[in-house]
Amino acid sequence: MATHVWADEALDDAIPAVFWSDRPDHRATAPSLHGVHHADLAVVGGGFTGLWTAILAVEEQPGMEVVVVESQRCGFGASSRNGGFCDASLTHGLQNGLSHWPDDIQVLLRMGIENLNAIEETIDRHSIEADFRRTAEISVATERWHLDELAEALETHRSVGANVDLLDQSAIRAKISSPTYLGALARHDEIALVDPARLCWGLASVAERLGVRIFEETQVRGISRGQSRVTLRTDDGVIHADRAIIATNAYRGPTRSPRRYIIPVYDHVLMTEPLNSAQLDSIGWSDREGLGDVSNQFHYYRMSDDNRILWGGYDAIYHFNNGLGSEYDQNQGTHATLARHFFETFPQLEGLRFTHRWGGPIATTTRFTPAWGRSHGGNVVWVGGYTGLGVGASRFGGQVAVDLVLGRETERTELEMVRKKPFPFPPEPMRWMGVQLTRKSIQRADRKQGRRNTWLRVLDRFGVGFDS
Ligand SMILES: Cc1cc2nc3c(=O)[nH]c(=O)nc-3n(C[C@H](O)[C@H](O)[C@H](O)COP(=O)(O)OP(=O)(O)OC[C@H]3O[C@@H](n4cnc5c(N)ncnc54)[C@H](O)[C@@H]3O)c2cc1C
Repeated sequence: MATHVWADEALDDAIPAVFWSDRPDHRATAPSLHGVHHADLAVVGGGFTGLWTAILAVEEQPGMEVVVVESQRCGFGASSRNGGFCDASLTHGLQNGLSHWPDDIQVLLRMGIENLNAIEETIDRHSIEADFRRTAEISVATERWHLDELAEALETHRSVGANVDLLDQSAIRAKISSPTYLGALARHDEIALVDPARLCWGLASVAERLGVRIFEETQVRGISRGQSRVTLRTDDGVIHADRAIIATNAYRGPTRSPRRYIIPVYDHVLMTEPLNSAQLDSIGWSDREGLGDVSNQFHYYRMSDDNRILWGGYDAIYHFNNGLGSEYDQNQGTHATLARHFFETFPQLEGLRFTHRWGGPIATTTRFTPAWGRSHGGNVVWVGGYTGLGVGASRFGGQVAVDLVLGRETERTELEMVRKKPFPFPPEPMRWMGVQLTRKSIQRADRKQGRRNTWLRVLDRFGVGFDS
């Protein structure tokens, strides 16, 4: 049978739900907000950024009154829908960091490792059960031109002292059995895999134990500035706070200014049923590394603690006018493409079924790294735009937001990445047209051995782009 036939059949019973949060031990919902409340710091958004922000603020200043307000339930957004790759990189990869901030790169690399270590330390200290595992990340070449890219990446990583090595075709196939693999680059020490929903719920519980008040199913509709405080308005209440941090990432938060810099981009994921021991034997992968391929339109994949394979990526879809909503979570075409690519990579798994399919909004900026900004006389700070590498970087994003909102000058706030905003996206309809042109150019580059057309070269020259 042709691959696409069994790939389509494998999707037949997949439910349209996020695997990570589709579990009976889902965190109980916190109360919603009614009436008038007071706080030192109000955090809008209960994803990784908002929860880390709250935890870091109260750990630093015990007794500080912090509230987190989440429009759905903590982890509703990207934070429970992702692949769970918790990368040390704060710059959406080394190459992107080097091209934007060559002078800061050593500091950014050190801070990235410190950030990853601190995440691990917090998880251990609070006994958060989130299947957090340090491992390697392996980028596999599936086209001849990818091998040159890997050789270049090896040099770049070694030039900054990273622990990387190349695997030739037989070495990578001996490790993980796929007829598509031609070679690989392994990055050690800089990544962990995690169950993102359990991490999010664990962080919410830690925050509450530290005294943070969490309100769920409460949307912040607006923020206004008083004499020295800010007022956050919800449908059935208000919070008067000294300061606020907006951690709504891809979602339309209560402040306008991030919308020029951050756009939502949909990424889609499949999860298989658990593999049996014969299926596991047929692929190897006994060290359970995080995997990805080298194309511009790349897949990322990993195993769960119950031996499923999560398989995501490839398409990155922008909907006109920052389109966002549950109607975009499911995408028949993209899920079918992902399923077909899965079985092209692992044809020996014919007959395996997918149990879950979902999607979610990644927030991207033109430089693929987060942006920070202030509003309301400096009493409100917003942060977001991690693109596809926010599981780890969101803790750093929150930490910088705390520095900024408290008016502290630190090594972090001195970074050019923090001080300077990315190039803004143009207004519609240019925004949509620019993104489509860039996507088409990227697809063409993948078909033409990575050769970038004039449009992509112009974007490269100005240090801007579109990615997931
Ligand atoms: C499919 C997918 C795969 C990904 N894979 C990876 C990966 O493997 N590794 C990686 O590093 N990154 C990955 N990412 C990116 C990563 O998940 C995000 O960068 C990270 O979770 C961002 O966290 P956040 O808290 O800033 O945003 P979110 O988790 O989106 O949280 C924002 C929260 O704000 C709430 N909110 C919005 N508006 C309001 C309002 N007005 N009032 C109150 N609350 C509001 C939302 O409900 C939401 O819960 C992936 C993302 C997606 C979508």
